[in-house]
Amino acid sequence: MSKLPNITTSIFTVMSKMATEYNAINLSQGFPNFPVDERLTDIVTRLSKENVHQYTPMAGYPPLMNKIAKLTKDSYNRIINPETELLVTAGATQGIFTTILALVKENDEVIILDPSYDSYESPVLLCKAKPVRVALNDDYTPNWETIEKACSSKSRMIIINNPHNPTGKILTENDFIQLKNLLEKYPDIIVLSDEVYEYITFEEKHISAHTKSFLIDRCVMVSSFGKSFHITGWKIGYTIAPEYLMKEIKKVHQFLVFSVNSISQFAISEYLDVVDVNLLGKFYQEKRDYFQKLLQNSRFELKPCEGTYFQVASYANISDEDDVTFCKNLIINHGVAAIPISTFYSDHKDQKLIRFCFAKDNFTLESAAKKLCQI
Ligand code: PMP
Ligand code: GLN
Repeated sequence: MSKLPNITTSIFTVMSKMATEYNAINLSQGFPNFPVDERLTDIVTRLSKENVHQYTPMAGYPPLMNKIAKLTKDSYNRIINPETELLVTAGATQGIFTTILALVKENDEVIILDPSYDSYESPVLLCKAKPVRVALNDDYTPNWETIEKACSSKSRMIIINNPHNPTGKILTENDFIQLKNLLEKYPDIIVLSDEVYEYITFEEKHISAHTKSFLIDRCVMVSSFGKSFHITGWKIGYTIAPEYLMKEIKKVHQFLVFSVNSISQFAISEYLDVVDVNLLGKFYQEKRDYFQKLLQNSRFELKPCEGTYFQVASYANISDEDDVTFCKNLIINHGVAAIPISTFYSDHKDQKLIRFCFAKDNFTLESAAKKLCQI
């Protein structure tokens, strides 16, 4: 008997595999294809010959934890105690999974805002809790009225993803006011704030949960070095939570992975001394602008993109196919892979929208755009 009967292979795996099979340009799964900063690879090369190959302490390599605390202070003016409020995780995925497993109980309800990233629902189901999927508005802003209607005495958690994958939307000050009002009415709800794209915003500044005093005692914040340092394959990130929640999260973590791979922790610890995360927004803004310019004369209609490295596009002018079929045919007939947006919804809304990842070198973006403009 399956514990997750309705869960199938992730769309990111399906589309990347198909892209490889058909030798298509892969703008589907979100990962950069340009070289990693040489300062980081040089650190790894040197460290690999040093004594860095054994277990680190369970919650993380202490110097790295101190630097994450400093980064959090520098970025958001939030002071955390790295010993009690921080956990280094094997990517944000493990941070999300571990948090949900530790804090959500059978029959609890967890509010998930659709379109939503695919890692949220399965851990909720494995806890025998109920995912309550609430659609965002058509412009991808949260509909706080419907969110409130979905809350009940059973609600344990609300998951927010800011900046938002797949839509590139970011939350506003008003959203946080609405969230505060909601949390005042439901004192048992905690927030899981997935901020893996926290440093990738463009015209508007990212507002982190770290900056909201009403969230400090009831929010778990998840981040990923995979996104911030172009190293998605390293699978390393971190989770910050108030001590009473972190105590529970660590209990699960110590039996799920015990500790995260050592050399990447040592390397990132050193790299944090030299890297400037604040340059990331500008870097990706240039990529977004370039990609949008390249697609200007295509028949795709591009949606606004405020952050992340994803561009949502409508193909309504091009085809009547549903988005999964459209994406498969895009690979087979035109040599470009994208992600169908319906797969981020529980009710598989067919809006003729697909997601392109623009975290690619300019040659890749140009080659893909050339193909996309011919459709
Ligand atoms: N959350 C979101 C919104 C993501 O897009 C991703 C992956 N791209 C993750 C979490 C997982 O991050 P990681 O690869 O660090 O596990
Ligand atoms: N987060 C990546 C995306 O949205 C995918 C990561 C994965 O494949 N698990 O494309």
